[in-house]
Amino acid sequence: MTKILIRSDYLLPGGDNWNIIRNAELLIEDTVVSYIGAQRNYPVGVIDRIIEGKNKLVMPGLVNAHTHAAMALLRGYADDMPLMDWLEQKIWPAEARLTKEDIYWGTLLAICEMIRGGTTCFADMYFHMEEVARACLESGIRASLAQGLIGLDASQGAARLEDSKILVSDWHGAGEGLITIMLGPHAPYTCPPQYLEKVISIAAELSLPMHIHLAETRGEVQDCLDKWGKRPIALMDSIGLFKQQVLAAHCVHLSEDEILTLTQRQVAIAHNPGSNLKLGSGIAPLAELLERGAMVSIGTDGAASNNNLDMLEEMRLASLLAKGSCEDPTVLPARKALKLATVNGARSLFLKEETGLLREGSQADLIMLDMDKPHFHPYHDLCAQIVYAASSADVEMVMVKGRVLMEGKKLVTVDEEKILHEANERAVRLTR
Ligand SMILES: [Zn+2]
Repeated sequence: MTKILIRSDYLLPGGDNWNIIRNAELLIEDTVVSYIGAQRNYPVGVIDRIIEGKNKLVMPGLVNAHTHAAMALLRGYADDMPLMDWLEQKIWPAEARLTKEDIYWGTLLAICEMIRGGTTCFADMYFHMEEVARACLESGIRASLAQGLIGLDASQGAARLEDSKILVSDWHGAGEGLITIMLGPHAPYTCPPQYLEKVISIAAELSLPMHIHLAETRGEVQDCLDKWGKRPIALMDSIGLFKQQVLAAHCVHLSEDEILTLTQRQVAIAHNPGSNLKLGSGIAPLAELLERGAMVSIGTDGAASNNNLDMLEEMRLASLLAKGSCEDPTVLPARKALKLATVNGARSLFLKEETGLLREGSQADLIMLDMDKPHFHPYHDLCAQIVYAASSADVEMVMVKGRVLMEGKKLVTVDEEKILHEANERAVRLTR
């Protein structure tokens, strides 16, 4: 059993406890936190490795609850366009040229960025997901992966469902639980009710959660009403989607009743403020959702609509946007924002292992921030400094499942230089 000891000037356990522990110590045995508290003395030879955190802060790793990692290859390719033009003229034609290898390298590009920004776990929906799984396993980042399912064409929809089943048997629980699989019905407007019913029955049969886009734009809600006589949330409820565990991305355009339905059915909601703003989709009613007790987490969405995968920035944006849109600075205070970006994210992925917070028995998914920077001083309230002043450049060390993925700002499990080179070459070919 490998024992790693982290000594840090400051430690935030997270979960419901955002009180700083000074001069803290965290003992990791293999993948699990076995002690957290005051520093102790150990006999010589008991500890395999000590990581010193002078002027550093250790906290749970950030969880990106909704993204399309490989879209990092399309970052900056098409911006400032109306959503449908953006999709039809730029994104879909480029995606049609994506090969399996492109997905692998594009995902690795996203993983480099996510690790550098302190993300230890993410929920992804795309295609060729076995390549995404391979990239995650190699890099050591935790992920919950869903093959995007589109059911507009019956035979293609059925084929993609078969791919999903293969993905489940090949990858669900791989890397000793590092990788888990969800089913990924893309959205109500790409998956008609009949097809969704099939997906739901397979999710029930295999006991898998589902990851879906819901109520992202006003147009989507209107089209759904025109076509099916119901708004998206009501339609999904009527066909039994919410009887299973569901991670719903966006949920921007919601009525009072829909907020109630999502809360009562315990649907996990991934809030993507950056993408919703950039695509002009609107502003999700975050304060109302939280007030009702909804399970809300934070996602970046893909890098083609954000344009980064920076969870510290996304957390700050979520908090500021909620305050500004409600004209109320007490909405989404710093500790609550931290909770959304960590433990709520982990719970929204329905993982069996305990992640998103640090306590004895939880997984050692954590990050270390360098607090010796002007923008952190003075140390009045370190939680507020992290939410309102920190940047991804402050992340110094990242660990997932007890394995160090970045140390001294150097990525140690992947060849970053090669990944940047491959990604650039492939991006040129895709968009030529
Ligand atoms: Zn999305």
